[in-house]
Amino acid sequence: MKIVDIRTIPLSYRCDPPYGSAGGMQAARGGLLIEVETDDGITGIGEAGVGGGSTRHVIEHQLRPMLIGEDPLLIEGLWQKMFARTRQFGRRGIAINAISGVDIALWDIAGKIAKLPVYRLLGACRDRVEAYASGGFYQEGKSVEDLAAEAEGYRARGFSGMKMKIGRNPSTQTHLRHLAGNAQLCEVEPEEDIARVAAVRKALGPKAKLMVDVNCAWSPAMAIEIGCALEPFKLYWIEEPVATDDIDGSARVAAALATPIAGYETEIGLYGFRELITRGAVDIVQPDIAWSGGFSECRRIAALAQAHHLMVAPHAFASAVTLVASLHFAASIPNGLVLEFDQNPNGLRDELLKEPIRIDGNGMIRLPERPGLGIELDRAAIDRYRI
Ligand SMILES: [Mg+2]
Repeated sequence: MKIVDIRTIPLSYRCDPPYGSAGGMQAARGGLLIEVETDDGITGIGEAGVGGGSTRHVIEHQLRPMLIGEDPLLIEGLWQKMFARTRQFGRRGIAINAISGVDIALWDIAGKIAKLPVYRLLGACRDRVEAYASGGFYQEGKSVEDLAAEAEGYRARGFSGMKMKIGRNPSTQTHLRHLAGNAQLCEVEPEEDIARVAAVRKALGPKAKLMVDVNCAWSPAMAIEIGCALEPFKLYWIEEPVATDDIDGSARVAAALATPIAGYETEIGLYGFRELITRGAVDIVQPDIAWSGGFSECRRIAALAQAHHLMVAPHAFASAVTLVASLHFAASIPNGLVLEFDQNPNGLRDELLKEPIRIDGNGMIRLPERPGLGIELDRAAIDRYRI
């Protein structure tokens, strides 16, 4: 069997009104679907991080020419070839985003040939995964009461936990925040963030999992100070408290706080996660399958985490294809903890699949049992959002 074509499908969904985190305000949600076509009629579907629109060019101009004519089942060999041939400009970021999308599509093909869902082909650990509601964003005019009502809604739908954004604080002194120029809209002082967390904890009740996501906004000192103030709320984790590259700073925060530190979705690949894991910068490991090398590389990251007795909570914040791939990944590893299930309005999550992913009344998602990723794309929905 041979690969005969690789196509990219860039998608965009407008967020109206925009919503934000400490990392910035979001006016649109992107997605980049990958189709790998073979000469025997099987087509694999994947998704890659959009990389500001640049990932597509790496796939079309670098990866496509080296993959046409290759055997799609030599997945590891092809992964290493793509990594080696892009290493001078790659190794992190967009090149690995691109490899991720192809890798997911190749595993979809392998599952379709084996007539097994990907998670079973990989040696399944479970057939359902606990999902948490990812929401609680900042929005113009959104009050603490509105946020509490949002949390209440997730609880009513059966979610056992929720993640909310904090850290959009004007008093933050880190250069990252000032250089990014994300200031002004929806800013709150840390005291108001603490009041937001208190309101959500009250709405969810004492037993629910409650996580906060700082999106790299704080300095280590600020993370320790606010992290201590948040300890009465028994957070399940604090996500990305400091800059991704401040590994020693994140390790200081992790050592100082009883609350686990989770991250860093913004790190890429095995060698990036090796530093976070071995230097004690994280207690919970959060690779994104569409950014960090697909199934092949993320399972290596999970194995390294396992060797350090750490759990993995996959980051997933793109289209339904990334969500489903993350589901298979989380179900395939022994140390899968919980899966991120974005709850912001997003047509790319709700409309792309003929059968959208849903939680049951116990906050669990059942794995699709059809071969490969087990999904069928809705072509009309793709046409609605295609750029
Ligand atoms: Mg995050």
